[in-house]
Amino acid sequence: MQSSQRIAAIVGGSGDDGWSVHYRAHGLAAAGVPVTRLTVGDHDVKTDASILAAMQGAMTGDKLGYMPVSGIDPLKAAIAARVTAQGGPPVSTEEVVVTPGGQAALYCAAMAALDPGQSCIVLDPFYATYQQTVRAVSARPITVETRAEDGFQPDPDAIAAALAPDTRAILINTPNNPTGCVYTRERLEGIAALCQARDLWLISDEVYDRQIHHGAHLSPRVLPGMAERTMVVNSLSKSHAMTGSRIGWLVLPPRSAEHVVDLAIAMTYGIPGFIQEAGLYALTHGGEIEDGIRARYRRRRDQALQVLGSGNLVRAVPPAGGMYVMLDIRATGLTGIAFAEALLEQERIAVMPGESFGAAAAGHVRVALTVPDEELADALGRIVQFAGVVKAA
Ligand code: PMP
Repeated sequence: MQSSQRIAAIVGGSGDDGWSVHYRAHGLAAAGVPVTRLTVGDHDVKTDASILAAMQGAMTGDKLGYMPVSGIDPLKAAIAARVTAQGGPPVSTEEVVVTPGGQAALYCAAMAALDPGQSCIVLDPFYATYQQTVRAVSARPITVETRAEDGFQPDPDAIAAALAPDTRAILINTPNNPTGCVYTRERLEGIAALCQARDLWLISDEVYDRQIHHGAHLSPRVLPGMAERTMVVNSLSKSHAMTGSRIGWLVLPPRSAEHVVDLAIAMTYGIPGFIQEAGLYALTHGGEIEDGIRARYRRRRDQALQVLGSGNLVRAVPPAGGMYVMLDIRATGLTGIAFAEALLEQERIAVMPGESFGAAAAGHVRVALTVPDEELADALGRIVQFAGVVKAA
């Protein structure tokens, strides 16, 4: 039997989902080979014991039954308060849908914004699931490159030039994965003006909004006239080290939120109550936990820039936010893929090839700052040395 064309088309033409180095590193590690894995954005620090205690405490009585499909009221209220604190029109609980992670929120946003055959702007470099998410709803991603020389800031003029008659949405991500770019007010205002002039949705992925090293996060929802056309995606994965709990949210206008609940009824039928209680605890008592996580990545980011400052073959792109550093390895003459594959074979260090995030990240690799400080410093030092060896070869 054949699967539907729709599902078979999710990965797209090449059949490569961009994660092959990561999977290979995983396979090596499972076979007992020591590998430093700097591929995926999962924390070395585990979910805090106090959050787990809240989760365990909720694993009794009615918290093991079905939950309201859009999320439990106190959690939706806490999310509404958190998003309202960013500014702009206050968020009501009718505008909040709790989802199994930010990824599911992205999928729900794509389902709510795009009809089959329509198109969505995706800025390149992009988070590795974006194109698949758009294709999963039978829509078409249109990629618009952001340029290294422009600090990977989005260019509203370039986006305007790329719009097709069937474009219904623009998907953005600030702070950005993989580049670490924090979009400026000016660029976001340019995108907002475009959305209003062309009647487009703006899907705003803000999962790194609490991990700012430089500057400030601005949610485009707060800009005048944008709350009615912005869908804000966020989660507790990065901010509270809760990747495995799969808890996130989508904030969007009430009518569309109702439609997303219809979708959730057809798909998840809600999120486990004990996970939602843990999320509620994290949002209401987890300020110090969040600060600690932010500080950890800030420290490692600074450490990485220090180690890489001296290696001229490997140039770090200083990230303003997030949990990653992009390395420009073009001076070695290798592609990001060739560099990452050889680095894994020879040094047993796994990094993501830039090409996994789009053409604009070619000749780069992305390093996740997700191993203990000493291991990270050692791995970065070896990456610099390795670049010298492959350049000479
Ligand atoms: N958006 C971006 C930019 C991400 O980097 C990630 C996770 N790496 C996600 C969304 C999804 O995260 P989650 O589903 O764990 O919330």
